[in-house]
Amino acid sequence: MKRYTLLALVAVLTVACATSPTGRRQLMLVSEESAISASKEAYAQTLKPLAEEGKINNDPALKQRVTAITEKLVAQAVKMRPASRNWEWSITVIDDPETVNAWCMAGGKMAIYTGLIEKLDPSDDEIAQVMGHEIAHALANHQAEKMSVAMATTVGVVAAGAVSDRPGLAMTGAAAAAALAVKLPNSRTAESEADRIGIELAAKAGYDPRAAVTLWQKMAKAGGNGPPQFLSTHPAPQNRQQALNALVPQMLPYYQSKEPRPTFDLP
Ligand SMILES: [Zn+2]
Repeated sequence: MKRYTLLALVAVLTVACATSPTGRRQLMLVSEESAISASKEAYAQTLKPLAEEGKINNDPALKQRVTAITEKLVAQAVKMRPASRNWEWSITVIDDPETVNAWCMAGGKMAIYTGLIEKLDPSDDEIAQVMGHEIAHALANHQAEKMSVAMATTVGVVAAGAVSDRPGLAMTGAAAAAALAVKLPNSRTAESEADRIGIELAAKAGYDPRAAVTLWQKMAKAGGNGPPQFLSTHPAPQNRQQALNALVPQMLPYYQSKEPRPTFDLP
């Protein structure tokens, strides 16, 4: 059994290179397909106790506002990466006024916390930048990259996922890694990639690219009990605000276009 585990690890490691949408090489221990199915389970497991505590989608107006923005972003995401049309995209508003956070798991399972709305008081353009950035992480397969890190540091999880004859056990390990992935910080390189893709998705969906700069300014100012959770999982790449500012002129034509803005229906 041990030898099989080692062989499986070697096999996984030798096929573990992938390329991100911006051409960066990624080390991948987890296929995107596995990340998506594990994330589906992780999403359900994450939301279940919150639903039982009555913390899901409590404010219909806010849920509607966030959904309307996200539906336009997802329409652009599936244009950018047609395979993502088959993802089971979903957005949930989590009622937690102390948590300034949002995330998107592999396969388009998204959440935004009421703390982000209450503490940042974002415009629709700024919400579009948050969710565009999160969707960009999923399109660029960053969650699978972080799951790979989670699994590589937990050999038992890799062994269970790679060779277990007990699929239930393996699934639990992978789902745990998927749930952990949204709590791990992205690399600064992944952050730059998500900034670049996210501002483009938002501009094409009809949202002002200048809001990317004001969003991060608001995020940096949000204090209270320490910095927002969002900043710990999204560390600033070098010169984030200058880099985003430099992208604005390229993005303005998308934003100012008179083209209709399609939507992608979310549940
Ligand atoms: Zn990020």
